[in-house]
Amino acid sequence: MLGAVTFAPRCPTCHEPVVWEGNPSRPFCSERCRLVDFGAWASERYRVPGEPAEGESGTDDDSDESGSA
Ligand SMILES: [Zn+2]
Repeated sequence: MLGAVTFAPRCPTCHEPVVWEGNPSRPFCSERCRLVDFGAWASERYRVPGEPAEGESGTDDDSDESGSA
């Protein structure tokens, strides 16, 4: 063993070094980052597929009869 190797995990959200000991938000650096990650995951899961556009509003041009008596 070559001395103590510092175990420095990175926050998945902001990629900052995470304080591991006494950190209730592991593996995130803070609760804020934890919520951000969860929010991203939730939005990904509940993403609503784009609704198909309805048919264009009827713009039927009535052809007027030409050629009056
Ligand atoms: Zn973070």
